[in-house]
Amino acid sequence: MSFFEVKNLAKFFGGLAAVNDVSFEVAEGEIFGLIGPNGSGKTTLFNLISHYHTPTSGRIFFQGRDITGLKTHRICRLGIGRTFQVVKPLKRMTVLDNVVAGAFSHARTKNEAREIALETLSFCRLIHRKDDLAKSLPIGERKRLEITRALATQPRLLLLDEAAAGLNPSELEAAIDLIRRIREKGVTLIVVEHIMKLIMTISDRIHAINFGRTIAEGTPREVAHHPAVIEAYLGEDYAHRAEHRCLL
Ligand code: ADP
Ligand code: MG
Repeated sequence: MSFFEVKNLAKFFGGLAAVNDVSFEVAEGEIFGLIGPNGSGKTTLFNLISHYHTPTSGRIFFQGRDITGLKTHRICRLGIGRTFQVVKPLKRMTVLDNVVAGAFSHARTKNEAREIALETLSFCRLIHRKDDLAKSLPIGERKRLEITRALATQPRLLLLDEAAAGLNPSELEAAIDLIRRIREKGVTLIVVEHIMKLIMTISDRIHAINFGRTIAEGTPREVAHHPAVIEAYLGEDYAHRAEHRCLL
């Protein structure tokens, strides 16, 4: 029995196969990287796992249990937490209240939620911001708040969706350090990230998709040298450069 598994997962939006027959297993304690060019289906996979979308077909297993079709809040209570690619903190609330809102998924009382929130803010090194409004934080700290809020739900498995996008080099180092410390707490992570330095540095194994389909899986080194991965990213780079007329 694996800690976490998706089996032949598919999601069609009309005629578009956003995720198409994807299978992988994640071991407990692993940092599992998920990569793919823009639009390849990474966020949709996370949305299927946390049941923001219902799969067209396929199954999802967590700690030996079939969780396909369970409601989003049940999945969270079972111990799968997530961040969102588009950061959406409750902007008019303080940093602390944002994290308390996350902690409430497990806590029984307001005091307990507040205690978990304060502890998680300290762990994520954001405690000095606790009384500031979420909207006043610069992007780097807003990204960190998003991770803090997800971590306050006390997950066993944490899904990070581009949690390091837009960070400067020193913020990136801090994010790598935080992800490693989260793993040391005993939390398993699936990390979606466009920044190759981050994903290649932290992942134990990487699963690569393109157009919703698996194209490679292996160690960071194996995946980085895989012809299908190189081709997928070359294609994206070419498209990007063409778009910005750098090829002309
Ligand atoms: P990624 O996160 O890898 O950039 P996404 O999972 O966001 O990719 O998107 C995969 C594909 O599914 C894209 O073509 C996207 O336009 C499409 N898609 C995602 N969500 C929806 C939706 N709710 N309705 C229709 N199409 C969607
Ligand atoms: Mg995405």
